[in-house]
Amino acid sequence: VGGIERGPRLSLPGFINAHSHAFQRALRGRVERRSAEHAQDDFWSWRTTMYADAARLSVDEVEALATWAYADMLKAGFVAVGEFHYLHHDVDARPLPANALSLAHARAAARVGIRLVLLECAYARGGFERPLVEAQRRFVFPDARAFLAHVDAVRAAVPSEVRVGVAVHSVRAVPRPFIEEVAAYARRDSLVMHAHACEQPRETEECQREHGMSPVELFERCGALGPRTTLVHGTHASADDIRRLAATGTTVCITPSTERNLGDGLGPVSELMAAGVPLCIGTDSHARIDVVDELRSLEDHERLRQQRRGVLVRPGGSLHEAVMPAGTSAGRKSLGLAEDLEDAVSVRMPLEGQASASAALDAWLVGGSSADVLDVAVAGLPVVRDGALLKVSDAEVREGALAVLRRLQRP
Ligand SMILES: [Zn+2]
Repeated sequence: VGGIERGPRLSLPGFINAHSHAFQRALRGRVERRSAEHAQDDFWSWRTTMYADAARLSVDEVEALATWAYADMLKAGFVAVGEFHYLHHDVDARPLPANALSLAHARAAARVGIRLVLLECAYARGGFERPLVEAQRRFVFPDARAFLAHVDAVRAAVPSEVRVGVAVHSVRAVPRPFIEEVAAYARRDSLVMHAHACEQPRETEECQREHGMSPVELFERCGALGPRTTLVHGTHASADDIRRLAATGTTVCITPSTERNLGDGLGPVSELMAAGVPLCIGTDSHARIDVVDELRSLEDHERLRQQRRGVLVRPGGSLHEAVMPAGTSAGRKSLGLAEDLEDAVSVRMPLEGQASASAALDAWLVGGSSADVLDVAVAGLPVVRDGALLKVSDAEVREGALAVLRRLQRP
């Protein structure tokens, strides 16, 4: 086809993107300038631009950006996405009718054909002794009762193919009794629960000041850890935190390309893995949407941190055995998806594949990218063929997103 020598293909299971904020796709290209006001750019200055977008986007614009992000995920080989959704209200912070923003994500996912797990996120305050900033007014519910009524309404309103879980934005944004009520709701209905944790040292310091313990310990005391829970990042988790995560069967979602882009730091990936904590991946802010980059960065970041090779690889094992579960089985566990999904991805076989299948997969993980993904099937039905979407045209998706980008780039 097109004169490209493809050779045989690598057939792989569908990959799982366990952590997404779809609207953040609009930031790429506008947050790589060093601002004049900040002596130093960091996570918190990036967040200022992110909040400015969050304050402006209409329901239709959120849908257009989500369609773009989900289309790129599907073409990259991700068959399912966990949308960590906290943009709940209208631009003027009024509640939206019929859960409009949750449904906008559901429409975007259905349009391209990706599986969606909506992680409805609790958000209550700016932080410990920090007032809300203007943009955060779109995120907040006054209390757990109002938030859980919203989750009930979303569960009743979304189409049956969309699964719903809950999330707690962070220990910064949600007070302790609120976390306890969300955790109890998740336990009662056997829902998955996600939360950001240990992304920034400041979050840990503030949690120590407010609660006298780490974010991980606080989540544990709130009854929020367990096999259906995923903590996202864990970058600054301590040895004691790792013990608590392992003992409770909690999953940790690492988002390497985003953590790198935001300057979060290098997480204790090998310590988590050695303790038996299941690790999954997410493209998070979507500066890059590439399965291979997330997976190989788990190992590459450890090589840079520890100045040796094969850090995550077991003696006698190889790279793909170490990192593939993070993109597949652990992602399914994190999102509460069945093991026997009929999802499949086929990838252009690297030359090494003609010598051995194991070398093919390792070669793809080291030197390939999601640009090598050819076909994707979800629930046995083709949704991407030869790198192109089948359910909607790529041009239509791009046009919709471009209109939003043009508006955001006008001052
Ligand atoms: Zn996140």
